[in-house]
Amino acid sequence: MIYCDYNATAPLRPEALEAMLAALDIGANPSSVHSAGRAARKCVETARAQLAQKIGARGEDIVFTSGGTEANALALIGATRLIDNPVILSSDIEHPAVKAAIEQSGAKRRYLRIDSNGRLDISDLAAQLAEIEDETPLLSIMLANNETGVIQPVAEAAALLREKNGLVHCDAVQALGKINVNAGLLGVDYLSFSAHKFGGPQGAGALWFRVGAPLKPQQLGGGQERSLRSGTENISGIAGFGAALAAVSPDEAEHVAKVRDLFESLVSERLPVKIFGKTALRLPGTSNLALEGFRGETQVMAMDLAGIAVSSGSACSSGKVKRSDVLMAMGVSEDMAECAIRVSFGWASTLEDAERAAKALITAASRAVPGLLKENA
Ligand code: PLP
Repeated sequence: MIYCDYNATAPLRPEALEAMLAALDIGANPSSVHSAGRAARKCVETARAQLAQKIGARGEDIVFTSGGTEANALALIGATRLIDNPVILSSDIEHPAVKAAIEQSGAKRRYLRIDSNGRLDISDLAAQLAEIEDETPLLSIMLANNETGVIQPVAEAAALLREKNGLVHCDAVQALGKINVNAGLLGVDYLSFSAHKFGGPQGAGALWFRVGAPLKPQQLGGGQERSLRSGTENISGIAGFGAALAAVSPDEAEHVAKVRDLFESLVSERLPVKIFGKTALRLPGTSNLALEGFRGETQVMAMDLAGIAVSSGSACSSGKVKRSDVLMAMGVSEDMAECAIRVSFGWASTLEDAERAAKALITAASRAVPGLLKENA
């Protein structure tokens, strides 16, 4: 099986597995004062320092969570509970975890426009902020989109929010470990992360928040994580989070981009593909493309039979395929959106993977849609 679905979950890095096994072996509670407890505490604090170092922040401002979903909910609900008269601004390209947390917060909301490249329309944000008078604006904007990989103008948007004394939450789940993420340079108040997107384990995430940013704890109990997120820490998950992040090498992104670019160029040579967000800045490993007349689910099944794991461009949950909100927000037609797939590469991908994935797609498409292959190519 050639795995090309890193944006869903990246395979576990060996460094993460090693750290996790060591943490599991300790078998003690990080709140215990005995030496085994202190060893467990060390796992958590090492990972906190590894994340802090990567994002140019202080460890004290990081809260470990059960994943990206919980980090998003903690930030959005935890902030709105303490803000006077909040209004949340966000767009249709946000992850369902963000959309659901906004809904649950009960705050008023405003919808922001997305351009045809899949980027937030900054002029729309500026115009909507100008209309806000008595409310406190809270922007929720992802750093990189999970379906298209398109990188959002977060720092630019955050500067506009600052002028209005507003707050910014950034879902950086798809960005961490793939592109540079620096809390200070982004100028945001909250950043959400998840370990399984860059080679750590599933079920481990984190929220960074700026000193002084409002944050009401949502899970109460034993007072762990400075009472911001109670519950005995998932020490193996946290250790795997830190070790996976520390294992990201500086030249990895360049290699992954080469793999993705090779895949796209091979496919484009033979097939009339539409690549979404192609001219925008994207994550190095993500490719979202459509082939008119060849439905996304059918492409995913055909690729699976050929031993290539990719995912459909449309979100598929509990067996139901739903048209992609992300592509619809970009103005893609319904027909085209239904013919999209996401191919995502990452830390263990090779140029050979790109060649084999491209070949499988070309073969599947030429069988499914006669006449689709470009001639003389
Ligand atoms: N945010 C984005 C952009 C994601 O891609 C995901 C995962 O699919 C999440 C949040 C949720 O993260 P987790 O699976 O760790 O809850």
